[in-house]
Amino acid sequence: MVLDKEKIAQLLMGDGQLGRALKGFEFRPQQRSMLSNVIDAYNEDSISLIEAGTGTGKSIAYLLPALKWAAETGEKTVISTNTISLQEQLINKDIPNLLKALNLDLKAVLVKGMGNYLCMRKLDDAMNELPFCSPEEKSEIEKIDKWKHTTIDGTKSDMSFIPTYAVWERVSAEHEACPQKDCPHFQTCYFFNARRQAQEAHILVVNHHLLFADLARRAENDNYTDPAILPHYKRIVIDEAHHIEEIATEYFASRVHRIELMRTLGRLASDKPGQQQGRLSILKQKMQTIFNKAPPSNLTVAISKLTIDLPAIRHRLLDQINETFDAFVNFISWMKNPSQEESIAQEQKLRILKEYQSNQRWKEHILPSASQLISSLKQYSIELNGLEANLKQLDNDRFHEQTKGIRLDIQALAMRLAASTGMLDEFVAELKDPNKVRWIEAQKMNTLLNVHLVNADLDISQALVNYLFSKFATIILCSATLTTNQQFNFFRERLGLTEQHMAKKKIKENIYDSPFNYKKQALLLVPTDLPPPTDIKFNQMAYENIWHAIQASRGQAFVLFTSYSMMQSCSAYLSQRMNEHRYPLFKQGDDNRHSLLNNFRTTDRAVLFGTDSFWEGVDVAGDALRCVIIVKLPFKVPTEPIIQARTEAITAKGGDPFFDYSVPHAIVKFKQGFGRLIRNQWDRGCIVCLDTRLVTKNYGKLFLNSLPPSERVFGPSATLWPKMEEFYRQTYHLTKQNPAK
Ligand code: SF4
Repeated sequence: MVLDKEKIAQLLMGDGQLGRALKGFEFRPQQRSMLSNVIDAYNEDSISLIEAGTGTGKSIAYLLPALKWAAETGEKTVISTNTISLQEQLINKDIPNLLKALNLDLKAVLVKGMGNYLCMRKLDDAMNELPFCSPEEKSEIEKIDKWKHTTIDGTKSDMSFIPTYAVWERVSAEHEACPQKDCPHFQTCYFFNARRQAQEAHILVVNHHLLFADLARRAENDNYTDPAILPHYKRIVIDEAHHIEEIATEYFASRVHRIELMRTLGRLASDKPGQQQGRLSILKQKMQTIFNKAPPSNLTVAISKLTIDLPAIRHRLLDQINETFDAFVNFISWMKNPSQEESIAQEQKLRILKEYQSNQRWKEHILPSASQLISSLKQYSIELNGLEANLKQLDNDRFHEQTKGIRLDIQALAMRLAASTGMLDEFVAELKDPNKVRWIEAQKMNTLLNVHLVNADLDISQALVNYLFSKFATIILCSATLTTNQQFNFFRERLGLTEQHMAKKKIKENIYDSPFNYKKQALLLVPTDLPPPTDIKFNQMAYENIWHAIQASRGQAFVLFTSYSMMQSCSAYLSQRMNEHRYPLFKQGDDNRHSLLNNFRTTDRAVLFGTDSFWEGVDVAGDALRCVIIVKLPFKVPTEPIIQARTEAITAKGGDPFFDYSVPHAIVKFKQGFGRLIRNQWDRGCIVCLDTRLVTKNYGKLFLNSLPPSERVFGPSATLWPKMEEFYRQTYHLTKQNPAK
């Protein structure tokens, strides 16, 4: 079966089916070329790497072939994205529009992870256990019980309120606590209904995490032909693909942390006043009620486990968890400053090196406490399993009926504890695998100090080749930012898409420039009289320049920072001035992202301060955003354990970690930040970059060569602001031409 390229491309022509059916649809040569490229990947079972600038219309360019392929063959395509906004755009707008325009009777669904769905079995139990809950939890559970009658899909995002983590965990679906066909709700279960719909669908829209969860399940069972978490599929489109290395690393890493362990134990048993009682306590109370009159003789063992053995181990465990995780925190402080054990600031990370494991502190403090904790966790799991074995022997149908759900929950929690035990065991074991990087992360959360122990892959490329690239027929990897300096080398190298790894598979690469007229629509300005960001005077001078740029653009500006602390300090420095001059300031952390963006869009002269998550996935079209200020080039923090390990590995292979790793990463992110400004052909605006390394360092050229071809002005700051004002005057007419106005 092959798709007819010419015939499908005809649909995009001005007088074609899409042009006639979709309002505002325009022919774009870049979109047509991309479409043809995607069709080749379907026809030839190949991999296609595509960088498509903003405005190319890349979603239609991959959706058309995916839909046509499904119509011809019945085969599914999985479309994976990083952001919810893109998933929503695909499922609510692009796909329905195309199906209607092409008159195709196909089905597309948005597939979500199991933890997003309400579990009615768990909700029933929660409702029965209301007397054991605190008033706040009781009210939330009752609200959820009412909501279940009106919800469309039973997912958390369909709720008009946000439940607390503990309550949602109490009622949400989870794999280990689901008896599937044995559940009385199986036929009406939200999650399984969604999975049944996914089975029938032709297009499955997912996020990258769910795609990797599915890939991991398939890898575990070496099964690429049957359903796993997703139904069987052979073709994948990965949009926003520049995130793949980071997400795959995160997904395949193991992570155990103090709060998670405490939470799991708390769900099993809790003696904190005012909190919901744990599952074991409720089980005990149910047993006492059911066997009140005639307790069977073999009940004693189970009761003794519930009242003596398990609580004793649990109390020991709570102390040991604190002791062990405190030992990890102290180890960080000691290694960072042995002469003075400082308390942990907001966040600290320490990569575990081989030599650290022979340090006396590691041997005398970490190893003994961790091994005691591991042994108690194992004992607790043994006792929990023993309890279940005892309960199974009780000959009482009413008991089994009434405790089925609660015992499933207990087993699921026991499995979680066992998984954490395994990870902890692995974390303290001798470092042998050169492809593993381990680190301790300590984070202050109000008064609490959470500690994560992470074990990740240094190089994720082999896993990607084994579980993804070599297993599927067609893979499209696309994004607005895949190349650096107009080349895919960095992306291909990091992901294993090299000749050496993928000799048998055809891989094509293409860059499609944005159709927007950047020369006319955008102006890049760099004040050259600022010191480099490492200079002590940089921050204050940068804040002053931010102020000038905000005034020149009359607000409607994004200020993108690379650190939260700098954003806070700039806000403290400028907020009064901004307030006096009526520039409303919206700052990341003050509200959720969605509300911040909505308020920004609808407020005159608004300014938004943001860090990481505002550099991409944000679409503010029109004059609501006419200035983007980039404070520093977005280099990754070199002391981040995984970054440090990766740069060392590049050095060991004879490479240059700065040019081979740090610069390309920063370029991708810089392009994303730059891309916030021009969202359609009527947009216009200025990008102000306060990092002079862009023009003074030789690598600055690589950044500049990677950007769309806007006009550029570099000079002393005082000369720039009049130029900005002039640019806004001269381009004002563009915004007026927008038919949406
Ligand atoms: S089938 Fe599983 S997820 Fe669905 S309601 Fe039953 S236990 Fe919950």
